[in-house]
Amino acid sequence: MTEWIEFSHDWAYYITSDTFDMNQVRGKVPVGSIVLVKEQEVLDTGVTITNTDYKIAKDDAVVNLVDKRAASKILAKLFVEYMKKHNEYPHNSSFDKAFKNGNVDVLFKASDYDKFKIRLTHAIVGGDPEEFLMNLNRSSRKKFVPGDDWKIEPAKSGRSTCKSCGGKIEKDHLRIGEPDYFQDHLNYKLHHFVCKADEIWGIPKDKLFGYENLTDDQKEEASKVLWE
Ligand SMILES: [Zn+2]
Repeated sequence: MTEWIEFSHDWAYYITSDTFDMNQVRGKVPVGSIVLVKEQEVLDTGVTITNTDYKIAKDDAVVNLVDKRAASKILAKLFVEYMKKHNEYPHNSSFDKAFKNGNVDVLFKASDYDKFKIRLTHAIVGGDPEEFLMNLNRSSRKKFVPGDDWKIEPAKSGRSTCKSCGGKIEKDHLRIGEPDYFQDHLNYKLHHFVCKADEIWGIPKDKLFGYENLTDDQKEEASKVLWE
């Protein structure tokens, strides 16, 4: 049960603590949510900028946070709770970078204008942050959405070379064709299936030409890696 607290402002949004959606404030906000209050300011130069203040909705009041970093710290804790519960990244978020000390940044795009760097530390995660993220369910990976059709087929000969690893692709082994335009002419860069499959995980079947022509065994091999 979500509890709400009254809060009004002409131009404000709240980020829910369970789904991380950003919604416009209309008279009330859910307790626990991060609130963004926007204000326009005209600079001496005549340029208009938008300032954002960060707040958090507590049981009895919506209180100010020091800055965006404070909001990000709260979001980091909520992110970890969410990830442990759902075994996936919240939507609109993705891995950003890893640091030498083991911390990891996740980029959270609450909106086109509101992006947060969510820093996951050993203390917040209760373990190694990088490992924690890697162990999230495969289903949390972003599905690959290709512009052009890709291709899958058993190698017709043993002469092609994998563009990923440089090795020969043995005859009859599955290979992936990556669409590649040269002077408006469509070519395919070939890769070992295993060298490229992870990268195109989740590709829609109708964007992977040749799949229907594979043998049952080949289909099984491909679909295990591409769609499970
Ligand atoms: Zn290869």
